[in-house]
Order: sequence, then structure tokens, then C-alpha cells
Amino acid sequence: MQDNPRRKFLKRSLQACTASLALSAPILNAGCNKSSSSPADGAPAVHTGKRFQWKMLTTWPPTLPVLQDGPKLFAQWVKEMSEGRLDIQVYGGGELVPALEAFGAVSQGTAEIGHGASYYWAGKVPAAQFFAAVPFGMNPQQMNAWIISGGGLKLWEEVYAPFNLIPLSGGNTGIQMGGWFNKEINAVSDLKGLKMRIPGLGGKVISKAGGSAILSSGSEIYTNLERGVIDATEWIGPYHDYMMGFYKVARYYYYPGWHEPGTNLEFFINKGAFSQLPSDLQQIVRNAAARVHYWMLCEFEAQNNRYLQKLVNEENVDLRAFPSQVLEQLRTYSDEVIREIVSSDAQSKKIYDAYTSFRMQITPWADISEKIYYANAL
Ligand code: CA
Repeated sequence: MQDNPRRKFLKRSLQACTASLALSAPILNAGCNKSSSSPADGAPAVHTGKRFQWKMLTTWPPTLPVLQDGPKLFAQWVKEMSEGRLDIQVYGGGELVPALEAFGAVSQGTAEIGHGASYYWAGKVPAAQFFAAVPFGMNPQQMNAWIISGGGLKLWEEVYAPFNLIPLSGGNTGIQMGGWFNKEINAVSDLKGLKMRIPGLGGKVISKAGGSAILSSGSEIYTNLERGVIDATEWIGPYHDYMMGFYKVARYYYYPGWHEPGTNLEFFINKGAFSQLPSDLQQIVRNAAARVHYWMLCEFEAQNNRYLQKLVNEENVDLRAFPSQVLEQLRTYSDEVIREIVSSDAQSKKIYDAYTSFRMQITPWADISEKIYYANAL
């Protein structure tokens, strides 16, 4: 293979290091070693062929399809692209630490990277949840536009910086379903006293409607629903909900997923670990994350209807739409919930203001493109 200039440069650097090692000159050796570890100025280290072993903690059950497949594919693609120089062992929720402790564990360096949804960390950092899903908020395409091209990622990095973490989008579920219930929801009053597993801002809205929102990881939901610890749950959409088996323990399946209109999932990377990677491995990590992000949305979109039909036709699930007056009331509660959060937390205000301002800026276009298209073309 013809050496390109970069390869030649790296080869010369390595030869220089080898020569200095042969001379056993401590001061020169120190300079060469420095290029393969974290440089003092925070710039990425130079590629020296050094191998890295990382651990990834996810918030998903270890064998969960799609959500856990994404992190596994990420590890596989990173290994292939880096020719084995970055090898990531993926652990599901509970394998090394409980699912909802992944953020803290990666922050402290117990593992180098994690995968989850930023609304899981709302208790530690309320502003994080705006990077996952906002009730009645932006759809997947609009979330991507905000995060990638509208300044969202920079704000997200600011929010995670005090935790020594770097965020990257790591999948999107598409618009979700409203959830599984064991009773009809004909009016908002039917939500009173309801114990529902529902994370994020949506959970606060359910509380405002008189229910109790319970945050639990995916592995606990089925049993909790079966035993009556909860009366209702939301999860994702037909494809994944079918695999979770909720149709066996709940009768009514409501739409739409007003609370999660396109949930953005995430990788969170320990900043120190990331800064020790040479620049090509850093780019490989970023590129594998982007590929997972795209792949996951495609998987859900490709499979959701097939499983919706199975649920309705084979499992006799009672598919229901939330009445419009219920959605209207939930929307009012959503506005109140968000107002309360932003009035008590300056960072949440900053993030939500940016979110809203971006949304306002793109909505007139959506109104004459997607909205009209869906209303007339399908
Ligand atoms: Ca959900």
C-alpha cells in the first residue's frame, strides 16, 4: 500500500520514538510517551497503535432487542473501524451497576461510556430531559435538526460538562404509543389515582392529572404490571411493546404517544477517557454513534406496523385513541409542568428557551410541508 502523507508522518514519529527509546534518553522518551496518552492541552493524542479497552453501561435489559442491539452494534462497528484498537465490552442494566445508575458510574469513570435516555437523569439535572423528549414537542426529524444543526448539541454538552460527560445522540424511538391500561380513559378524571410507569416530563404531567408517575427500568415493568404494583405503563411502540409482552397483562393500548413524540436516546462518554483517544478513534466513536442513531429509528419505523397488526389481529388488543379533550387537558398540564420547571431552574429555562425558539423558527415550514402532506397524501 502506498503511504499517504499522514501515514508517513505517523511512521516517522514512531521511528523517532523507537530511536529515542533505543538511546534510553528519559527526557525524549517522556516526550514520545506523551503523544500516546492524554496531552496536557486537552487535544486528542496522536495515533500510535495503542489499544484501548472500554466498558459500556446501558440502561436496558441485557438481551433487549433494538435498544440494547444499538450499543452492541456500536461496539462492533467501533472495533471493526479501529481494527481492534478500541474494544468495548457492553453491559446491560444490572450487570455491573443498576440500570439507572449508569450516568453516575460513567461520570465517575467506573466505565468509559453509557447508553440510555437523558430524561432518566432528570433527578440529578432537570435540564437533561429536554434532550430526550418534550410532551407535545418536536418529532424525531425536528429533534435531530435541533441537536445536529440548531445548536442543541452544544447546549447538551454544556449541561453534561459538570458531570465530566460528553453526550452524543444514540438512537431515536420515533413517535411512541400512549401506553397500556387496564381501564378505559374517557376523561382526564380516569387518570386520577392511576399508578403509571412513565418517565420524564410525561410523568410529571400524569402526576398533575392526579395519577402517580413511577420511573422504573425496562426489566421491571412487566412484573410490576402483572402484580398490580402499577396500573398502566407506557414503553415505546408496537414493535418493542409486543416483545415486552405487555398485551398479556393489559387490555387497552392507547395512542398517540403525546408524551414522547420522538425520543432521542444517547451515548454519554467519560470526558477523560475520550480525551485519551487519538483523534481517529474519537472520530470513529462519533461516526459509530451517528450510525446507531440512524439505524435505530429505521428499525422502529420498519417494524412498528407489522407488530401493531399482530397485536390487534392475533392478540386481540383493544386499540384506542385518547379522546381529544383528554389530549387537550394533558397539553395544558404539560405547559404548566414545563413552566414550573423553567421557573425554578435557570439551566432548564435556558435549554427550553433554545428548544422553543428553534421550534418556532422551523414550524412554519413544517406546517406547509409534512403537516399538509400527512393530512392529504396518505
Ligand atoms: Ca416511553
